[in-house]
Amino acid sequence: MINLRLLWTWDHCVQWTAGRAGMHDWGASNEYPASAEDFLREYSLLVRWCGQNGIDGVVIWGLLRDGHGGVETATRLCEVAEAAGVKVLAGIGLNAYGGVYYEGASEWSLNNHLEKHPELFAFRADGERHILLPDNFMPQPMLHACPSRPENMDYMRDGLRWLMETVPVHGVQVEAGDTLCCECPLCRERRQHPVSALSWEDMALVYAPAAEAVWSVRPDATVVLETYSHPDPALEGDVPGFGGGAPPWAAECLAQFPRGAYVQWVGDYVTAPRNSVPWTTRAPEGFAGNIMRSHHATWWRGRGDEVAIHWLAEVAQKSIAQGFDGLSIFGDKSPFRTGCELNYLALADYGSEANPEADMDSFLKRVAAPLLGGDELAAEFLRLARLIEAPEELEGAVTAARRQAAKLEGRPADRWTWLAWYLSRWVYDRDLA
Ligand SMILES: [Zn+2]
Repeated sequence: MINLRLLWTWDHCVQWTAGRAGMHDWGASNEYPASAEDFLREYSLLVRWCGQNGIDGVVIWGLLRDGHGGVETATRLCEVAEAAGVKVLAGIGLNAYGGVYYEGASEWSLNNHLEKHPELFAFRADGERHILLPDNFMPQPMLHACPSRPENMDYMRDGLRWLMETVPVHGVQVEAGDTLCCECPLCRERRQHPVSALSWEDMALVYAPAAEAVWSVRPDATVVLETYSHPDPALEGDVPGFGGGAPPWAAECLAQFPRGAYVQWVGDYVTAPRNSVPWTTRAPEGFAGNIMRSHHATWWRGRGDEVAIHWLAEVAQKSIAQGFDGLSIFGDKSPFRTGCELNYLALADYGSEANPEADMDSFLKRVAAPLLGGDELAAEFLRLARLIEAPEELEGAVTAARRQAAKLEGRPADRWTWLAWYLSRWVYDRDLA
């Protein structure tokens, strides 16, 4: 069974009204392009929808920044979420991704901490300070702290305690960093094993103190620990990166993770559409739970808003079979986009009491059919939506969706109109090429 369902977001990508200027489709570490009112309105829509539809919580990266009202707006949102029965989990990069206060004039902004204490930076192998200037999808320079420095460990603990004392979040999802590791002498000396862009030993070093700091203020807080990995063994000799398997030293690192936390894993490269293979490793026991997170229906890996209920069924079925009990997908866009709506509803349904085996046909009949005009139409909606993969059939699919929209009324008609519009974009782009 699945007992924790999360939507994962960066603040700058969240659009839960149907139309508003200035949003990002995807990316990380962007500026926030709207107002505090927009932030509060849209995330309030999100958490209320979650509360009404069986989603347990939302992870928010960029929860605290001056550009949308800092602590005050975050506090008001947490109150809305509390009333809706939904958890707000702050996404916190411990030595990267901005720290506790993502952007603004706060001592708990990691950038401010490192600018004040340049000696506490992480360092690259060439001795330069580790400041990532990735690409246009992550435009803000990302400053990295050295995890081996005790001053940084104290700062991390103090920041998390401040967060839990100051903002009524229900917990945190923390990350040690997946954007290259510190190569300073202290870190090299400390680590027994090689690193890729991420380090299992760095996770093991920082996750227990981070969780203890959170629980020292709020013993009931939800703590989610990111591994960036799948638990199946990595290929021999491989030092896997994001979404790869577990290297031989993962188990000894995992043993140092705090037991009261949820461990979060990556399902992307062991399921459809990228690599549908059997899973051989059961979720580790003894934690609060194990969450499988996937990049479906996002421009990160695939296409934004696409109908992904069939892929999500595979993730859910494999997760349940191997003892994973949480699921997380991207949640930045409104259910006005029918692909997102169906994906979120499938997240709520798969592994629930109503659908313990995460059966997609059951979902289509019970949940999707009333939204789309009936049983047969629900199956037809999915079939047409997947013709996105078949350029020669796209025009016919657009015509079929348009005709169906014309036969219906209200929101069911809107959903078919969305499908016709969504598919027609690919016809248009194909014809331009
Ligand atoms: Zn270091």
